[in-house]
Amino acid sequence: MPELDFVFDPSKVPDRVRWKQLDRQSLPSPLVYLGQQDIRIARVRGEWISVFCPLHKGGRERKPSMSVNVSDGHFRCHACGQKGRDIIALHRLINPSLGFREAVLDLGGCFHD
Ligand SMILES: [Zn+2]
Repeated sequence: MPELDFVFDPSKVPDRVRWKQLDRQSLPSPLVYLGQQDIRIARVRGEWISVFCPLHKGGRERKPSMSVNVSDGHFRCHACGQKGRDIIALHRLINPSLGFREAVLDLGGCFHD
């Protein structure tokens, strides 16, 4: 029998597994995140936060085109069409060099074992 020399390397865990292991409670709320990123909030109405989209026109659009859900952070920009299911996706669109794991850690989030 060949000896198995298996060393667990957490950085090699695929994103789809990481997604299940993510501790969502460890992430900032959508409102806190938007404040941290200096994304201009136009108004909060019910479930939706209306913001000036940071993903087109260098974040300097005249009217707010992006809607972000207050509770789970899913978002869509009605001008440039960018959308995603949580603030991790938004954070990665703003910072395209970040992988999923890096984006979570950058947000101060953590993973379950
Ligand atoms: Zn946009």
